[in-house]
Amino acid sequence: MKQVDVVIIGAGAAGLMCAAQAGKRGRRVLVVDNGKKPGRKILISGGGRCNFTNYDVSAANYVCRNKHFPKSALARYSQWDFFSLVNEYGITWEEREHGQLFCLESAKDIVDMLLKECNLPNVEQRYRCDVHDIEKTEDGFTLKLDTDTVSCQSLVVATGGLSMPKLGATPFGYQIAEQFGLARVPTTAGLVPFTLHDKDKAALADLSGIAIPVTITTESGVMFKENLLFTHRGLSGPVVLQVSSYWTPGEKVTVDLLPDLDVVETINAMRDKHPAQSLKNSLARLLPKRLVEAMIERGDIEDKPLKQLNPKDITALADYLNGWQIAPNGTEGYRTAEVTLGGVDTDELSSKTMEAKKVPGLYFVGEVMDVSGWLGGYNFQWAWSSGWVAGQNV
Ligand SMILES: Cc1cc2nc3c(=O)[nH]c(=O)nc-3n(C[C@H](O)[C@H](O)[C@H](O)COP(=O)(O)OP(=O)(O)OC[C@H]3O[C@@H](n4cnc5c(N)ncnc54)[C@H](O)[C@@H]3O)c2cc1C
Repeated sequence: MKQVDVVIIGAGAAGLMCAAQAGKRGRRVLVVDNGKKPGRKILISGGGRCNFTNYDVSAANYVCRNKHFPKSALARYSQWDFFSLVNEYGITWEEREHGQLFCLESAKDIVDMLLKECNLPNVEQRYRCDVHDIEKTEDGFTLKLDTDTVSCQSLVVATGGLSMPKLGATPFGYQIAEQFGLARVPTTAGLVPFTLHDKDKAALADLSGIAIPVTITTESGVMFKENLLFTHRGLSGPVVLQVSSYWTPGEKVTVDLLPDLDVVETINAMRDKHPAQSLKNSLARLLPKRLVEAMIERGDIEDKPLKQLNPKDITALADYLNGWQIAPNGTEGYRTAEVTLGGVDTDELSSKTMEAKKVPGLYFVGEVMDVSGWLGGYNFQWAWSSGWVAGQNV
């Protein structure tokens, strides 16, 4: 039987970071992945440019039932540590809005960097390799692989979440947690577009392609300010992806369509200057015309000359535009989600090492656990941080 110190299941962001760190410590590492190549999600991330971290990272950028859990790993291996590594390898990068750092050339630069970090005689990688069975032994684990059986002291589960099944996502990590009696927070799709009820979908269908800056607030008061994109399926854009991670089915969201404008003051000024101008044409100077027409067609706004609006009408208009409410029908689900909410319950894990408290030698890193980041490089940072700390301990 083959013997190694560490088996890592999953050659994604977290698994490769963990393999490199354990390898540098002289541990004999075997990485197994069911896919044909490493870092498949990294390669397609950020539109092929990989938003690999963010200048501003804290535990507040993560959805996790225990909001303190991510703190330790993020502090021990921070965005600055990963940023230094990227610079050490001469990878060119650019900062985009909200402190997001992207590769200038290609996401492949990040995968190549991780593979170089793993290029050690004591680190072996196997692709198109399935794990059929895992058994706990007295001093570690035995895994039945496609062609052989391997024993190890430490087993790292780095199988990621359920999003993008086309890229080989599997629930295997959750099954391992279940096998060892570890609790799981129910999983759902996060960072995902909203779908709409048929009536809203039909009314808003013509708006497909329109993007406007808005704020969206959930019923629980979580708010994001970013661009909203109307699509032929529903609502998308960064603001929707962000808020989707905090949305519960059945809830309405409140959209402020003119977040930077005092609507009452602006309409009053327009009425004073152009009293005969229609409300439709006036609003079309503040918002996309097609959107204004849709609001009138839906009967949400009555078109009339500005001079016919009384102060009560203008206040009601402002309330509508600053508080447009819509109840999503659901989300597009794992097919298009960037992340999976929920996963292995962090109460089961040490926040310092990622080791399961009741199963010595068993570690979980990356998205498989109940830690999901905002849009903006936070998910990769979690993969680097959690993979790194586990790599120091396996
Ligand atoms: C389209 C898209 C774009 C994204 N863009 C960004 C971005 O720009 N910035 C950002 O921070 N985050 C982004 N994310 C999220 C980010 O990709 C993930 O959070 C991150 O990859 C998680 O790392 P991980 O190592 O935990 O899992 P993954 O990177 O998903 O790796 C898991 C690995 O485990 C393997 N595996 C799964 N099941 C098995 C099994 N049964 N046996 C063996 N191997 C298995 C998989 O093949 C895979 O290689 C994006 C996600 C998507 C879907």
